[in-house]
Formats: sequence, C-alpha cells, structure tokens
Amino acid sequence: MADKIDARFERVRARVADSASRVGRPPESVTLVAVTKLVPLELIRDAIALGHRVFGENRVQEALPKIDELSSVAPDIRWHLVGHLQTNKAKLAAERFAMVESVDSVRLASRLDARAASLSRRLPVLLEVNVAGEPSKWGFCPHEVGAAVTEISQLPHLEIRGLMTVAPLGRHAEDVRWAFRALRQLRDDLRERIPSLQLPELSMGMSHDFEVAIEEGATIVRIGRALFGERLPAR
Ligand SMILES: *Cc1c(COP(=O)(O)O)cnc(C)c1O
Repeated sequence: MADKIDARFERVRARVADSASRVGRPPESVTLVAVTKLVPLELIRDAIALGHRVFGENRVQEALPKIDELSSVAPDIRWHLVGHLQTNKAKLAAERFAMVESVDSVRLASRLDARAASLSRRLPVLLEVNVAGEPSKWGFCPHEVGAAVTEISQLPHLEIRGLMTVAPLGRHAEDVRWAFRALRQLRDDLRERIPSLQLPELSMGMSHDFEVAIEEGATIVRIGRALFGERLPAR
C-alpha cells in the first residue's frame, strides 16, 4: 500500500507542478493539502513517511483523534480545517488547527478570535465563499464578503489569509473554471478596496478540478481521493 500511495503522491505533485508551470508559476506557489476525512490512520502514516506534512479534515470530531495520534509521529504536521464549523466547536478548532479555511460567518469568526486570544495566538483563517450561491453549500455569498472581511479584519487574533471555495460539481473541470476565476476576481477587488489586506491565499480545487484551479490562481489545493483512493462511505 505504501508503494501505491507513493506513486499517487508523486503523480499529483507532478500534475500540480505542470499546471503551475503552464501559467508561469513555480510549483512551490501551490500548497497541497492532503484531505484525510474517512481515510484510515495507516494511510495517513504512509503519507507522513513520504514527508508530507499538511493535512485537511472537514470535521473537528473526526480530526481530533487523528491529530492526537499523529502528533507523536510528526510534531510539525499542519492541520487545516476545511469543512463547516459549528460555533460550539470553535474553541477546539482554534486550539488544534493551524488554519481554519472554512470561516463562513462573522459570529464564528468572533468565537475563533476569542479562543485564539486566550491562547495568545493569531489564527490564520480563510473566508469560505459560496461562489455559485448554491443552497446546499456553506460560505458567504459573494456580495456579503466585503462587509464580512471588513468586520473580521478588526478581530485582533485572526489573520485573514484569503478566500476559499468549494466549486459546483461539473461534468468536466473546465465547466467550473468560471467559479475559480470568480473567486480570484473577488479577492482582487477586495485587495483594491482594502489595500491593508493582502489576501495572498486562494484555496480552490479538489481531486477532479485542481489543475484548472491552479491555472486560475489557486495557492492551496485540497485533495483527497487522488491521493488516498476512493473513500469508504460514511457510516
Ligand atoms: C473532501 C473535501 C475535499 C477533497 O475532495 P476530493 O474530491 O477527495 O479531492 C476538499 N475540500 C473539502 C471542503 C472537502 O470536504
């Protein structure tokens, strides 16, 4: 199994590098977050053995035992929370994650800020945007993001690093290129309106569409299945 995962990581890294070079960017400009939801611990250990250190989880409850268990294997792992966070779990998230990519309300941001303050840390966050306005998805609507960024940027213990989106499902990756472009455009507009904010990160692109996302400016891609194989269905 370790061999197989070795080949998968190599292949995905090569595809990331190819996509970046198509648009004149160095491969290091893209952070690969290996998404481990529903992935058995053994496979995550294999990925760590390959030298991988940035992992993503979409649920705090599922993540905590993995974070505990694997911190002894590699203390330098950085965990990103990529799924919707309930405000009552904000405290745990602020304690255990290196970055929360899925901030989708000002209320949640305030909770994270309060906990980060008591830990004397500044927590890097991304604001999640529901670019297509899909009712089934979390995230700010594009027209709400400006006001949210303004409010959240006042919170001293959060550092807004950029924006994140989960693109709509398309038959082909090309079908959702517009969504990635829209997120980048939104970021560029915010930068112009609020010059004190750099918003360097754009987290967009998953197993089936990360190449297009990188061409459109992704600096973080969140990849599960292409690295670990199909997930077992949740029970
Ligand atoms: C599961 C998940 C991913 C990874 O999806 P794959 O299709 O397995 O690459 C990325 N982002 C979020 C928010 C997820 O929940």
